[in-house]
Amino acid sequence: MTTRFRGLTTRDGVLLRGEAGWGEFSPFWDYDDAESRPWLAAALEAAELGWPSAVRDRVPVNVTVPAVGPEEAAAIVAASDGCRTAKVKVAEPGQDVGEEQARLEAVRDALGPGGLVRIDANAAWDLDTALARLALLDRAAGGLEYAEQPCPTVADLAALRRRTDVPIAADESIRRAADPLAVRRAEAADVVVLKVQPLGGVRACLRLAEEVGLPVVVSSALESSVGIAAGVALAAALPELHHACGLGTVRLLERDTVPEPLVPHGGYLPVTTVAPTEASLAAVAAPPDVSRRWGARLADVAALAGASR
Ligand SMILES: [Mg+2]
Repeated sequence: MTTRFRGLTTRDGVLLRGEAGWGEFSPFWDYDDAESRPWLAAALEAAELGWPSAVRDRVPVNVTVPAVGPEEAAAIVAASDGCRTAKVKVAEPGQDVGEEQARLEAVRDALGPGGLVRIDANAAWDLDTALARLALLDRAAGGLEYAEQPCPTVADLAALRRRTDVPIAADESIRRAADPLAVRRAEAADVVVLKVQPLGGVRACLRLAEEVGLPVVVSSALESSVGIAAGVALAAALPELHHACGLGTVRLLERDTVPEPLVPHGGYLPVTTVAPTEASLAAVAAPPDVSRRWGARLADVAALAGASR
């Protein structure tokens, strides 16, 4: 990673190659084997089946601003090559609300009045904290497009949503929940964030989007361009797409798995396939101990998936 993000400084995973192309299997290490199964399903879909037809040929993306200081935040937005939506990380451990306000003000200044600013709290706040913070951060941002997963529980998201004008997006409540439709039943969100790997693939996400019936933002799980291409395929296949997607994250990686990284130009990613080469793969090859860990993990998750098929 170029910048610490989601507590990570290194990103690793496995690429699978099949008849249809390349798939990425890169569950975070805090996902156990059972939770990693959908990630493998997504990688296998990409490698063996390919994806449903696209209804658009490009996908708008947001620039992602990690929990950095205001000067760096402004520089990241300025370097985003035309992104009109910024997603700003908040609720970073060890930081206070003043730092968040300064970051949001800097992002708003850099985007200009026509841009959209969203925040992601990664489920860090309780209901009262979320209420207080949203009011302050909405003001600092000059109006928020939405707040992503401000609280951990669906019940708190629903309660918060009734008490604030800031739209609420559900992320962890969808992708790490036993029952992703609970968000809809509780009227806990205005937007849902869908991620291809944790939700088991592009087709699984399309079905879920239809069931949930709310506007969708497709986001990455900080994949290399191989995994990002699956997110782009989902965003390209959705019947409607009202928001910029969180798929412009390859820039957070120092190196990529393909020679031509899927980075946005003019605020959009093209709908395209990606092709690693021997040279591009060699450049990101993991050290032997990491490779062994992934080999074992892949075998364990595959065995679990096979056992319950
Ligand atoms: Mg999120």
